[in-house]
Amino acid sequence: MQGLVYDYHCHTTASDGALSPTELVHLAATHGVQSLAITDHDTVAGIEEAKSAAQAKGVELINGIELSVLWERTELHMVGLGMDIAAPEFARLVMSQQDARRQRAIKMGQKLERATGLKNIYEAVCDIAGSTAPCRPHFAQWLVQNKQVRDTEHAFNRFLKVGRSAYVSTPWATLEDATKIVNESGGVAILAHPTRYRFTRMKLRRLLSEFCTYGGKGLEVALPRLTPAQSELLYDCLNEFPLVASGGSDFHSPQQQWLTLGKIPALKTGVPFVRSLLNLSDTQ
Ligand code: AMP
Ligand code: MN
Ligand code: MN
Ligand code: MN
Repeated sequence: MQGLVYDYHCHTTASDGALSPTELVHLAATHGVQSLAITDHDTVAGIEEAKSAAQAKGVELINGIELSVLWERTELHMVGLGMDIAAPEFARLVMSQQDARRQRAIKMGQKLERATGLKNIYEAVCDIAGSTAPCRPHFAQWLVQNKQVRDTEHAFNRFLKVGRSAYVSTPWATLEDATKIVNESGGVAILAHPTRYRFTRMKLRRLLSEFCTYGGKGLEVALPRLTPAQSELLYDCLNEFPLVASGGSDFHSPQQQWLTLGKIPALKTGVPFVRSLLNLSDTQ
């Protein structure tokens, strides 16, 4: 089967996405997506609901997560696909990530209270986040609603990004530990959106070399909006390291008019594809 329509990176209301798992699966079906992985930040809470919706729509659903991890004190994102989400070591990892998220959110709330003079910010942000541990976009939403900033971008630039007053560095799992746990749980560890860290070519290669020694197996290459130079860099990395290609839109909301669920560039022919490691028919 040539030309499989897939998306192995997207978000739901189980983290910072706008659509419920059911709504996301329905949108995927509308866009002709045949194979989908929901990769919410540090949680698999959306998967069970998504499974029922996917079954009803005839969409293949692969277990997924996007883990926040630390490498050399830098925060990176690692996508895990195909894990047994009930595996005890994986469930423990998710619990400790959720705990780190809540502790971070409490501290962010305190910092924002000092910066804005407003009160009970953590509680208000938890209300916005619903049952999930808050993500920074939930703080951004609160800041917009309370007229502290114009929009989400302004919220990140003024308060939330690294170096700004409400940024809190967080004791996420290390890339090494998270990779090992994803492997032990039967999953494939994939470096997410490698060009977004703004690493030099040399630093990215050092990261990938270490990632491979930890047991990392994949690299996101099929990504929307890459420049030709970025795309070439990622294909060079696939040549240089024993990694398979994956990819996805990183869809969060229908309001992101610049991207579409399931719409990602086709991989070059002959490139090893993540499905081969997921024991699924290796089609692209
Ligand atoms: P968190 O995992 O809670 O630190 O939140 C990270 C999420 O915030 C990312 O997955 C994006 O969805 C969002 N994000 C990060 N930086 C920005 C930005 N500059 N503008 C808008 N959203 C952002
Ligand atoms: Mn996000
Ligand atoms: Mn990410
Ligand atoms: Mn993402």
